[in-house]
Amino acid sequence: MANGECNALASMGHMAASPIQLDHQATTPCDAAVVEAMAPWWSEQFANPSSRSHRPGLLAAAAVEAARDGIAAALGVEPEAVVFTSGATEANNLALKGLAEAELERGGSRRHLVTLATEHRAVLDPLRYLARHGFELTELAVGRDGLVDLEQLEAALRPDTLLVSVMAAHNEIGVLQPLEAIARLCRPRGISLHSDGAQAIGHIPLRPGELGIDLLSGSGHKLYGPKGIGLLLVRPGLRIAPQLHGGGQEQGVRGGTLPVPLIVGLAKALELAVADQRQRAERLGGLRDQLWQQLEALGGVHRNGAVAPRLAHNLNVSIDGVEGSALLRQLRGELAVSSGSACSAGEPSHVLRALGLSRQRAAASLRFGLGRHTTAAEIAAAGQAVAAAVTALRRGGQGGG
Ligand SMILES: *Cc1c(COP(=O)(O)O)cnc(C)c1O
Repeated sequence: MANGECNALASMGHMAASPIQLDHQATTPCDAAVVEAMAPWWSEQFANPSSRSHRPGLLAAAAVEAARDGIAAALGVEPEAVVFTSGATEANNLALKGLAEAELERGGSRRHLVTLATEHRAVLDPLRYLARHGFELTELAVGRDGLVDLEQLEAALRPDTLLVSVMAAHNEIGVLQPLEAIARLCRPRGISLHSDGAQAIGHIPLRPGELGIDLLSGSGHKLYGPKGIGLLLVRPGLRIAPQLHGGGQEQGVRGGTLPVPLIVGLAKALELAVADQRQRAERLGGLRDQLWQQLEALGGVHRNGAVAPRLAHNLNVSIDGVEGSALLRQLRGELAVSSGSACSAGEPSHVLRALGLSRQRAAASLRFGLGRHTTAAEIAAAGQAVAAAVTALRRGGQGGG
């Protein structure tokens, strides 16, 4: 199909079927059972859960609290720890800026923030914002495998370090960071540990309380729930300053009328994601390995990120002898995959660059994110599509067809 010139919309116009969906780190489909659970809360039971003066309001409040209880139980925290937000981006902003502002308000003197160069933009950008407003930021390099160097992290910690932020499961390269070991470095020094758990919650067992994580961000649409809802788990006793003032909802930490349908949907999605978590990971891990074998056979294909520990449903590869944008153009009609994250289109991934890949090799990379509904037949077809595209591009000497 597509030659090098045709654009995305033109190729969509003559596509026989929709492309194989292998971009589940960008988002996931909202589960039908989740849509069903949300249904009554839009138009029938539409009351504001803050309306305590009538029965519909109390019922909406009860639905929110039942959702909060379910989420808390699934993640091993107290219900009071759950703060609903619009997504992981907001949760990260609330955690990082909220902690920094609380430190200022209480007259504390900690001004130093530590993170990894490979973090999501939704962590890096709020931290860089703080660095422009009186805080000091250390962005640590990672190893070629994408994992934190614990000795380097320890060496970076200072008496005035306020927080460390490290992603639990990586949205591009799938690696799982050693959060418990990181927490062991932070806790005795009085340093708060934040983790962006958007790709981890519902996908791997994660108990923030047991691991020593003080703040954990999550997102509904990364775990087969609705878009526009997320959460921040806050360790009891830790104070963060609100970033949305008004209304007093969520213990005064996050103002705004609670989106009852989305909250109900998030709880249902998490319940379902936890229920088939292990079996899903086993199945998708098998398919992921099958895809890797197909790609490896092409020669000149390199895996990005540690082989373990990592998410079972993620594979990120760089491919020699092809140009990145030509490769994506070739595949566009058949596969929904991405090069790097969904949020950094155009530029080669800052994550792959931080692993030491050249611009060219970072651009010639593909991220495969398998999902709950991915089949063996789809993986076989995806492997064939990549093989055909790579062979054609290598033969054509980068020409694109
Ligand atoms: C998707 C994602 C986000 C952003 O989440 P939203 O809910 O879309 O705001 C943040 N961090 C990571 C790791 C993600 O994968």
